[in-house]
Amino acid sequence: MGCWLPRLVVPDLRVERIEEFTEAQLQALGVRAVLVDVDCTLCRYQQEGISEEKSEWVRKILQGGWQVCLVSNGRSGRIGRLAQQLGVPFVAGALKPFSFGCRRALRKLGLAPPEAVMVGDQLFADVVAARWVGMKSVLVRPIHPEDEPWFTRMKRPLERWVLRQLEKRNSQG
Ligand SMILES: [Mg+2]
Repeated sequence: MGCWLPRLVVPDLRVERIEEFTEAQLQALGVRAVLVDVDCTLCRYQQEGISEEKSEWVRKILQGGWQVCLVSNGRSGRIGRLAQQLGVPFVAGALKPFSFGCRRALRKLGLAPPEAVMVGDQLFADVVAARWVGMKSVLVRPIHPEDEPWFTRMKRPLERWVLRQLEKRNSQG
């Protein structure tokens, strides 16, 4: 018997990299928009510029008819430049795990929470913020988590523990 985990920390889906999150999976989730975390999800922590693979994924999703919006706790200067590079709207200073930023993004897109999915690398930021507002949630493995500041790295052991519980629970059916 696995331990009880609140829905707040359980993502709908886990993928290794954002590029592995497919249009078929988006369709299955029944959403119209993807809110995307930036640091350690789209690029390395505090880096400028997004790789060709990640940019290509964003283009594919946009072409598929979904809306995309960056939602980051980062500063608006850098997040704005990255959003411009991708040609998508953004919300910076999102304060995840609180839900303010996700709500702002949903207002920008004109959507209700069940119509959007948040993709990010942190259980105790991206998944919690998404769940809090009632959105779907996808967890990716972080890109170079060793670059992260201490306050993020501090959360990783608990995150790994929760993910192990989830794996146990899933393997028990
Ligand atoms: Mg992140």
